[in-house]
Amino acid sequence: MSDTDCLFCKILVGDIPAEIVRESEHTIAFKDINPEAPTHVLVIPRRHEPDIGSLAAADPDAAIALLNEAKAIADGSGNGSYRLVFNTGADASQTVFHCHGHVLAGRSMTWPPG
Ligand code: AMP
Ligand code: ZN
Repeated sequence: MSDTDCLFCKILVGDIPAEIVRESEHTIAFKDINPEAPTHVLVIPRRHEPDIGSLAAADPDAAIALLNEAKAIADGSGNGSYRLVFNTGADASQTVFHCHGHVLAGRSMTWPPG
């Protein structure tokens, strides 16, 4: 369920510090170290899966919990508008291969993303 070489698994067990903002049965959420918006929080499942698709297939309850946690974070920051991003695969700029949703809020955004 965890990967000893995974950065986010290390955050989950406390081996690497992070600014945790929410915890639930299936997830934790912490501030992105390099924020791209006034609110930039990463929501991750406790279970190590490489991306949201594999999480949804392996543990649908955890995937739904992740979506609910993202909304709760957005509800607590700003005017209700937010972007939830799952970079999936190296060509989509995924750099950490432990599923994570980026919750971005607190500024206006453009579309499409680059
Ligand atoms: P992605 O490129 O979608 O895989 O996103 C990985 C995110 O993890 C980036 O936005 C990084 O800024 C963030 N990140 C990397 N290391 C840490 C860390 N130690 N604590 C918090 N966020 C991190
Ligand atoms: Zn992991």
